[in-house]
Amino acid sequence: MSRLVESALRRRGLAALMAAGSLLACAAPASAAAAPTQGQRGVLSEPLPVSKQEVALTFDDGPSPGATPQILALLKSHGAHATFFVLGSELERFPGLGAQEARTGNEVADHGMTHKSLPGLSQARMLYELRATADLIQELTGKPPAFARPPYGNMSQRVLQVARSLHMSVALWSTDTLDWQTPGAATIARRALQGLAPGQIVLMHDGGGPRQQTVQAVREILDALDARGYKAVTLAQLVQDAKPSVAHHMPHRSSPPRPVS
Ligand SMILES: [Zn+2]
Repeated sequence: MSRLVESALRRRGLAALMAAGSLLACAAPASAAAAPTQGQRGVLSEPLPVSKQEVALTFDDGPSPGATPQILALLKSHGAHATFFVLGSELERFPGLGAQEARTGNEVADHGMTHKSLPGLSQARMLYELRATADLIQELTGKPPAFARPPYGNMSQRVLQVARSLHMSVALWSTDTLDWQTPGAATIARRALQGLAPGQIVLMHDGGGPRQQTVQAVREILDALDARGYKAVTLAQLVQDAKPSVAHHMPHRSSPPRPVS
């Protein structure tokens, strides 16, 4: 696995250059969350119109050894799945965790290489942030990412265009737990579940800082979803189950995540 990553890095070249800065960038609160852009065409930022009792739990800024394995274990024990918006920088550090996410039927999606806010970047740098991460995901999981989530939820038309040029849809969220503020597991779980309705896209973090509260909250959330007859599915699954009215959100290459052996 590491040889694969190394060769990927050599081919990309730029990655080594970015590595030092990336850790610094990720130390900042992962999502000093700007409110998602509501209703912008082609951006998932509201609950999807699904008829099944399904929600998408999404985790940003990982993978991280402190939280990702525990979240994967909790998902597995509940027969649930989630979408992980990984940072390329963290995928380089923990490629085995990224591969494990995909292997266990979860979805790996693109959060950029170094957690830079995208709209202010040059075209070349913006393309690098999304494409290098997408390439790494493809090499580690055998599958290209269908979704990109710009850091901080900072959007622009150019971000949308670059994501589309890489065959990704832009996905924000409909429910923000603000878990990065570490308000306590109970509060994170309450925020995730308040207004629970089919199609919600819930934002949490499995990297970028201590995430034990999030792990504990995931335990409570999955128990509560089970009790209320809800199922946690990947974003790709949620989009697939949505009514045709959101067809324009569909990524160009959309299929439900399959375990990669
Ligand atoms: Zn983030």
